[in-house]
Amino acid sequence: MADEEQCIFCHIANGKIPTKKVYEDDQVVAVLDINPGVEGHVLVLTKKHVVVMPQMDDVLVGHVGMVAKQLSQAIIRAFKCEGTSVFVANGASAGQRAPHFMLHVMPRKEKDGVALQPSVVRLDEKSMGALYSKLVPSVAKAFGKEPPKPEAKKEPKDDKLQTTNHTLPTDTGQEPTAKGQKPTANGQQPKSKLDAIMDLLTGGK
Ligand SMILES: [Zn+2]
Repeated sequence: MADEEQCIFCHIANGKIPTKKVYEDDQVVAVLDINPGVEGHVLVLTKKHVVVMPQMDDVLVGHVGMVAKQLSQAIIRAFKCEGTSVFVANGASAGQRAPHFMLHVMPRKEKDGVALQPSVVRLDEKSMGALYSKLVPSVAKAFGKEPPKPEAKKEPKDDKLQTTNHTLPTDTGQEPTAKGQKPTANGQQPKSKLDAIMDLLTGGK
């Protein structure tokens, strides 16, 4: 109880502190961020006090996702921007500054100076493979499934995967082509790093 009583974001979510509220239902409120990263930055706050996403039940997570989608559309229409960034910071090292869950929806325009794009980390195939082997069983566990068996992987040794080069082509105005690029092994994309953070935050439960 003490957490809720002391949490300023609970007070905001429950209307005890005045805000520029743009949306409300029985589970969330959406307000204009008073310390925005960009003009029109909206925060979606849960009415229930939770700190990080892994504490939320699936229905609430789904509901927050739906709200983010609708707010994205509304923001694009209202501000005539070109897109939105939608993100959640789970944990201080991810940039979470408040002890209450919030989802950020930020209007985006080209060259708006918002620094959300991390620089690309270059990994060789071995490092990618090591990450993949760590993550896949963890994802299986998160979804309550059996970890995949190693022989399910079909990676002929002579079939070297091409390392994707993320460097932008120096020639201008041309779409990068897919020539010479292969799909990732097994056709699966590694899941977001956030999954691993969430697993850590919840002690792997
Ligand atoms: Zn709270």
